[in-house]
Amino acid sequence: MSGLKLPISLEFFPPKTPEGAEKLRAVREKLYALKPEFCSVTYGAGGSTQEGTFSTVSAILSEGVAAASHFSCIGATKATVREELATLQAMGVKRLVALRGDLPSGYGAGGEFHYASDLVAFIRAETGDDFHIEVAAYPEIHPQAKSPESDLQAFATKVKAGANSAITQYFYNSDAYFRFVDDVYKLGVDVPVVPGIMPISSSSQLLRFSDACGAEIPRWIRLRLQGYGDDIASIKAFGLDVVSDLCEQLINGGVPGIHFYTMNQSAATSEIVERLK
Ligand code: FAD
Repeated sequence: MSGLKLPISLEFFPPKTPEGAEKLRAVREKLYALKPEFCSVTYGAGGSTQEGTFSTVSAILSEGVAAASHFSCIGATKATVREELATLQAMGVKRLVALRGDLPSGYGAGGEFHYASDLVAFIRAETGDDFHIEVAAYPEIHPQAKSPESDLQAFATKVKAGANSAITQYFYNSDAYFRFVDDVYKLGVDVPVVPGIMPISSSSQLLRFSDACGAEIPRWIRLRLQGYGDDIASIKAFGLDVVSDLCEQLINGGVPGIHFYTMNQSAATSEIVERLK
């Protein structure tokens, strides 16, 4: 355990260069002090990062830490998914984060899977209970959802297709999370829904990224971040306070764990966990 009374998990993205891989190795070494339950590695839609994802997963396993591979299905065929599942099984991977993914604009959707629920059902049919399957959850509603109700229903459908647990998109408003958990429970979903936490270490990247992925930055946080301009030290100090407070509210509300979007950096995640101890 991390020193917190609940499990934590850590997310990384696959580095693009040998220098990036070496830097990430050092980051992992520091973060292993938090005793994560598992570390997950993102996967570029359309298989664009497959090699980097699998080699990072492999490195984590070889360091004696449980690893989860993210796995997106948009644009994939059953044959390619079957092949990649076999590769992951042979590597000793026991946990997947099963996603639809987003193809970069310009790619036709194609493929044999439309939604994450199709992928979850396929993985279960092909590999039985070999994998612990995580799915994505959106307390502030997925940006392409037809309606809030249909999004909740879609989440319930993918859990019922065979997911064991879920990790949320990041958010800075704990009410959205608790409301989501209550609402999906009413739809018969009782798997753990672990909040995904994005530490705040820079302002422009976060503001840009959040618009696209359906995560709201509350007005007061946005304005404070914009007000700091290029003053990175103030942004970091403010970010640590805001995110530590959020985690404390979540822990007090009984969350089953915390998943950190580390952005391949160790400092903010380590400091937040330290403050929560
Ligand atoms: P789905 O659950 O399939 O939902 C997608 C949309 O379709 C939603 O709007 C939903 O309401 C709707 N929908 C679902 N089923 C139906 C249905 N039957 N009928 C009508 N509408 C339906 N992206 C990556 O590319 N790589 C990653 O590694 C990655 N990791 C992530 C990890 C987490 C924890 C999270 C929260 C997101 C991650 N993403 C990743 C982003 C994710 O791929 C995108 O948010 C994507 O747009 C949706 O994927 P999904 O699996 O949630 O899709």
